[in-house]
Amino acid sequence: MEICEIFHSLQGEGIDIGLPTIFVRTAGCNLRCEWCDTKYAWKGGEEIDIENIKDKLDEIECYRVCITGGEPLLQEDILELIDLLLPSYEISIETNGSLDISEVVEKDLKVSMDYKTPSSSMEDEMREDNLDLLREKDQLKFVISNRKDYEFSADILEDFDNRCEVIFQTEESNDIREVAEAVLEDGLEVRVLPQLHKIIWCDKKRV
Ligand code: SF4
Repeated sequence: MEICEIFHSLQGEGIDIGLPTIFVRTAGCNLRCEWCDTKYAWKGGEEIDIENIKDKLDEIECYRVCITGGEPLLQEDILELIDLLLPSYEISIETNGSLDISEVVEKDLKVSMDYKTPSSSMEDEMREDNLDLLREKDQLKFVISNRKDYEFSADILEDFDNRCEVIFQTEESNDIREVAEAVLEDGLEVRVLPQLHKIIWCDKKRV
């Protein structure tokens, strides 16, 4: 498996925000979001076999693992890695919404799926059939950079009757208060969150 980095930090996004977590960041992505903050993971990486990945995780005092990218579903042995880690770890996986998630939702983990908004320029790459596959314990995340993103996301939710958590995550440049006020005014049942790691480690290039 192509690995960009493995590190221990706090979960900065979504319903597990603030919880200590080991991140396994795979290398390679099939999308090119305008505001991508992990461009360093688009290519390269180090080939590490899944047993060695587990050995590295076992050295860290933490039972929660987030597999992220890049796009982790591009890795051929992603399901094997999940099966290897599941007996020992609570796992979440972050995926960009453009690839089929049907196999990964069969596993006992949390899926955090993005639905790319217009500011990413990747909204046409989304697989709408994935929306029906999300389970109650999963989450659907929209990154909101401007009013157009907000309205686009609200439109998607109009036809979404799934009971999984929905996150409106503001992008750095965006005013979270504006999104919060719009959500309250429109009565949307979503969770509005910033990216915690960018607040805590705002002075670092990679967070
Ligand atoms: S899907 Fe994620 S890693 Fe890929 S370009 Fe978009 S933000 Fe970056």
